[in-house]
Amino acid sequence: MSTQSLVVNVVSNSQSGKLALDLYEVLSDGRWKIRFDHHKISNFSTCEQLFNYRHVPRLVQVAGSAELQPKVLHLRGGFSWAATFGIYWAHVLEDFYNHVERAQKNSEDAPTKGDLIKYAIRWWMKDDMDRFALTAPTQYTKFAIGYIQVDLDGCPVKFPQGAALLASQYFDYTLALKDFVNWKVIATESAFGVLGDVIVAENDRVVVCYQGRPDLVVYDVQKNLVKPVDHKTTSDVNGDFVDNWKPNAQLLGYEVSVQELCKQLKIDTVVDKCIINGVARDIPSLKPKDGRVKSRFRRVNVEHSASEIAEWRKQMLARAVRLRYCIENDEWIWKESACHNQYGYPCEYKELERRIPEDRLIAIQHGYEYVDPWNVSGK
Ligand code: SF4
Repeated sequence: MSTQSLVVNVVSNSQSGKLALDLYEVLSDGRWKIRFDHHKISNFSTCEQLFNYRHVPRLVQVAGSAELQPKVLHLRGGFSWAATFGIYWAHVLEDFYNHVERAQKNSEDAPTKGDLIKYAIRWWMKDDMDRFALTAPTQYTKFAIGYIQVDLDGCPVKFPQGAALLASQYFDYTLALKDFVNWKVIATESAFGVLGDVIVAENDRVVVCYQGRPDLVVYDVQKNLVKPVDHKTTSDVNGDFVDNWKPNAQLLGYEVSVQELCKQLKIDTVVDKCIINGVARDIPSLKPKDGRVKSRFRRVNVEHSASEIAEWRKQMLARAVRLRYCIENDEWIWKESACHNQYGYPCEYKELERRIPEDRLIAIQHGYEYVDPWNVSGK
């Protein structure tokens, strides 16, 4: 990720098929094979112009290189505490459930609480979470509580007490639910469809390929079912958190994709259920108004009918047709209702678009950077 890139040329997608390969390819029959994943669909649904900035590459000359590279626009330093915390916790659980999977496959001991805390420390360092002490001090301090000195591979490091507490509490929670017994881990963060081989809908204009990377896929021993598990972090897992999972295109996408994964693994099953594995960043109040101390963790089971899955496929098709139109015509509608509040924060391009058009290039040079386009495989 370059912070010193310089735009020397911008090529619209309609002019450069080479740039568009990650998004679409033109088939011999003239149809467009469009690659979708939840992040792209969600951005496109939020605002077409947002999608244009985030996912349609421009040719950019990066400092120190003579070659033009496909990049997308991003607010410099525009990482929120909440979103980055979600990525951090997903990293921690990826290591944890990878360990569970190894232990289950090799009949070894399950990971210990110490293992989970070690993963929490390692990812805290790798994801550079301490930067939020400066950029989001209120949220950071509330979570961190204080510091403890820990040993990481022989080196003493300062680690937030709150992060160790979260890992410790999550471990106890999984023990109480008997996850090691009830869940057989099939896959953690396994990308599928990256070759454009999972086709979920098509018509005479487009072929929609779906890509994804569910956090976790488990075989539920008690229910005899395969289910995707999605880790979600939030401020509070009580109240609305339980009711907010329908409609939700991401979960349907996971079910469709895990169904595909099962097909590839020759597992004969119907995947129409998934689990939200909710974790609260904040410690629930110990003195709540109603006198009942709430849980910091919550599992929500979500189920879809065959007709809901068929409806999802139709929605994907309609969006892909519209996206082809947007790219062909370089026409991206602004959705102003999304400018001021996206998950509690203003849109990262608001500072750009509040300026008059003639001033935007200067705004880009001062407040934004060009980064590699999003890729579902994370590579
Ligand atoms: S500022 Fe508004 S119009 Fe512009 S990309 Fe963001 S949501 Fe869309």
